[in-house]
Amino acid sequence: MTTKIWHPFTQHGLGQPIPKIARAEGATLYTRDGRAIIDAISSWWVQTHGHCHPKIVAAIQQQSARLDQIIFAGWTHEPAQQLAKDLSNFLPEALDHIFFSDSGSTAVEVALKMALGFWHNRGETRHRVIVMDHSYHGDTIGAMSIGARGVFNQAYAPLLFNVGSIPFPEQEAEQATLDALTVFCSDRDNPPAALIVEPLILGAGGMKVYSPAILAEMHRICGQHDVLFIADEVMTGWGRTGTVFACEQAGITPDILCMAKGLTGGVIPLAVTAASAPIYDAHFSKDRAKMFFHSSSFTANPIACAAANANLQIWRDEPVQQRIDNIIARHRNFARQLGEHRNISAIRQCGTILAFEIDDTGGNYMSALGPALLGFFADHDVLLRPLGNTVYIMPPYCITDEQLSAVYRVIEEAIGHFG
Ligand SMILES: *Cc1c(COP(=O)(O)O)cnc(C)c1O
Repeated sequence: MTTKIWHPFTQHGLGQPIPKIARAEGATLYTRDGRAIIDAISSWWVQTHGHCHPKIVAAIQQQSARLDQIIFAGWTHEPAQQLAKDLSNFLPEALDHIFFSDSGSTAVEVALKMALGFWHNRGETRHRVIVMDHSYHGDTIGAMSIGARGVFNQAYAPLLFNVGSIPFPEQEAEQATLDALTVFCSDRDNPPAALIVEPLILGAGGMKVYSPAILAEMHRICGQHDVLFIADEVMTGWGRTGTVFACEQAGITPDILCMAKGLTGGVIPLAVTAASAPIYDAHFSKDRAKMFFHSSSFTANPIACAAANANLQIWRDEPVQQRIDNIIARHRNFARQLGEHRNISAIRQCGTILAFEIDDTGGNYMSALGPALLGFFADHDVLLRPLGNTVYIMPPYCITDEQLSAVYRVIEEAIGHFG
């Protein structure tokens, strides 16, 4: 008997084929028999500059031959220090402390623990976390607790902790979101510790977009009531929304910011939770009981830090913003074209992410259309993974004009086929 692989978010009982990828370059994935597939979702939202970027490959090769891993509790190394130094050119000035971990979920868990530790060490009892409906923050128990409840986490529901939920700011109903937040924030009996949000666009919740003005307003309300503001930029960070971080578009600086996916260019796992001085200071003491009690074995792994340093180098040396702006402009044209289809609705764009619904009676994640679309796209050599009947494109910035046109073409074919 051989050990079998259990894939994530995969119902093996349906017997769907699991294609095997042998190598990748730029925005292209290659199977062993030479089939070329366009990676239009950046290998699940992580890849930014494309697969096997030579600068990142070289950084990993060189670092892995020099220093591969070292305990980070009480020890340090050059790649981590370099990254801290260089990140200050990308982060708002007030976010001047960074804590390493190794995935988006852990970056979020760290953020929650920082926020709760902040209040605890200051001697205030605050445990309540405010979240937005439809949010996704990861798949660990804490991250699930602050995320949307549904079929995804039904089995674990009794273990998830309670949170306060504000509605997603639907167009024309945005005031309801702000009012709900104000009510939670003004609750003198149970003041919230923090609000955590995905800025500008909710990814896994269905690529739901809201305005920078609302983001700024939520930040203002939190500040007014002394509630910590946590931005989960795990997906939005590193250019997805058109700016390096989505918060920039609202002109806000969160108290805590989580990043992961694109931090290493999407090549190897690394996450950073950036915090402002007051968060750090609340843990700074001669009292060992007030230290931040969190670690994982590979905290700030030197190879991963070297990959992140190469990513930052690419942002400095290559026309990354120009590539992003080009995708934004091309998406805008394609969105106009999509608008002419009768069976397409809710076309929206946030930076390099373009999303729309294919109208269908099911209309939820479990609808049969999702898997059918997935198969259709795969058969046409495009990696797109619709969320139910929500189709979205989130390409790596290196995607060529021809490749992007090919993705658009296959999408139009799918609309014709399923519409
Ligand atoms: C993907 C994602 C996470 C979880 O990141 P992992 O690295 O998969 O653990 C958290 N928050 C958001 C907004 C995400 O999109």
